[in-house]
Amino acid sequence: MVMIYLDHAAATPVDSRVLKAMEPYFSRDFFNPSAAYLPAKKVASDYEAAKATIAHAIGAKASDLVITAGATEANNLALNAIFASRSGSQSPGPSPRAGAAMARAAALRNPPSQDANIALYLATEHDSVRKSAERCGGAEIVVDKFGRIDMADLKSKITDATELISVSLVNNELGVIQPLAEIANLIREIKFDRLRRGIKTPLYLHSDASQALNLLDINVARLGVDLLTLNSAKIYGPKGVGALYVSHEVKLTPSTYGGGQENGLRSGTENVPGVIGFAKAVELAHEHLNGNRKKYAELKKLLLSNLHGYELINKKHALDNFAVLCYNGIDAERLIYLLEEKEVYVSTGAACAASKGEKSHVLAAIGLNDEQIAGSLRLSLGETNDKSQILEAAKIINEIVGSEYGRVSHE
Ligand code: PLP
Repeated sequence: MVMIYLDHAAATPVDSRVLKAMEPYFSRDFFNPSAAYLPAKKVASDYEAAKATIAHAIGAKASDLVITAGATEANNLALNAIFASRSGSQSPGPSPRAGAAMARAAALRNPPSQDANIALYLATEHDSVRKSAERCGGAEIVVDKFGRIDMADLKSKITDATELISVSLVNNELGVIQPLAEIANLIREIKFDRLRRGIKTPLYLHSDASQALNLLDINVARLGVDLLTLNSAKIYGPKGVGALYVSHEVKLTPSTYGGGQENGLRSGTENVPGVIGFAKAVELAHEHLNGNRKKYAELKKLLLSNLHGYELINKKHALDNFAVLCYNGIDAERLIYLLEEKEVYVSTGAACAASKGEKSHVLAAIGLNDEQIAGSLRLSLGETNDKSQILEAAKIINEIVGSEYGRVSHE
C-alpha cells in the first residue's frame, strides 16, 4: 500500500533541494551571524541574501521582513505589537463569534460606538489571528456562504478607533481567496476621510498569506497590505520558520528584547538553516507558480469527477488545491480513521482545531449547520500527488463513504 497524502494545507514535506540548501548551515557554516570573524560574516551575508530572496518574491526588501518561528508568531507580532503600547490592550475582547446571521442582526441593532472595534478580523481567520485580535478589542467581519468577506459588514464595523483590519489572503480551511486590493482601496478612502477630519488614528491592513505563497503571485504594493504573514511550512520549506512583512508606515513594538536582531523587533540568534531553506522553497515556488496551478486544477477536476455522493462546499473563489466536501449524515471523523487504515490522509479542517475535536469556526461562519460540519472533509492537494494517486484515492473514498452510508442507514 502506498500512502496517499491529501492534507498539504496542514503540512508539506521539505523539498529535497531545500534540504540540500540547508544542510551546510547545520554543520560547516554553523557560525553565529553576529560574530566578528570572517566565516561568521559570510553566514550573515548568506542569511541576508536569503531574506532578500523571500522579500523580493513579494515585492519587498530584506529590511522589510521580520523572521519569526512560523506564521503563528508572525500573526501575533502583527496584532500584539501594534497594540502593545496602548493602554487596555490586555483586556479581553468581546466573546468569540456567535454566527454570521446573528452578527449581522446585532450590527443593525447596535451600530458600533466610535471608540470600539480597534481590530477587525475575518470570522474565518486562523486562531492565531482571532485570539490575538480578541485580546485587543477585536470584532469579527462576517463572510458570505462562499467564505468571502462581506464588504458591507466591514464598512459598517470600521469606526474612528479601528487601527487594524486582518484578512487572510487565502483561508486555510476553504482555500478561498479574499479580494485584498478592494479592501485596501476602502482603507485608502477611510484614511483620506480621517485626514480631512483631522483624525490621527492609523489604519493598517494585515494579511495572513500562509497558504498562498506557492500558488499566487504576491506583491505587497499591488495587494495594498501594510503587514503580511508568510509561512515556510506550507511551501515545502522547513517548519517553525515564517516572516512578517512590515511596511515603513507601521511602528511595531518588539516581541523580544536582547541582541537586537531583526531590526530590533525580534531579538535572538537567527535560525540560519531555516531561513536558507525558506528562501529556497520560495524560489522553487516562484519558478513553478503557473505550472502548479495548472497541475492542481487538473488534479482537482479529476478528483471531483471521480468522487460520488458529496456536496462541494468551496464552490467559488477557491485555490485549485483545496476541495472541501460535505457527506451529509456521515461522521467525517470516522471517515478519517477509516481512510487512515488505507493510508489515505485527509482532514476535517485546520489541523490544530481538528486535533482538539473542536467544531470548525470556518464552516460555521459560512452558514453550515452542525450536521454538515460533522460531515465535511478537507482535501488539499500538493506536490506528492499525481493522477494515478488521485484516482486511487477517489476509489477508496467512494468505497468507504458507500459503506458508511450503508451502516448509518441500518442504525
Ligand atoms: N495561518 C494559517 C492560514 C495557517 O494555515 C497556519 C497553519 O496551519 C498558521 C497560520 C500557523 O502556522 P504555524 O503553525 O506554522 O505557526
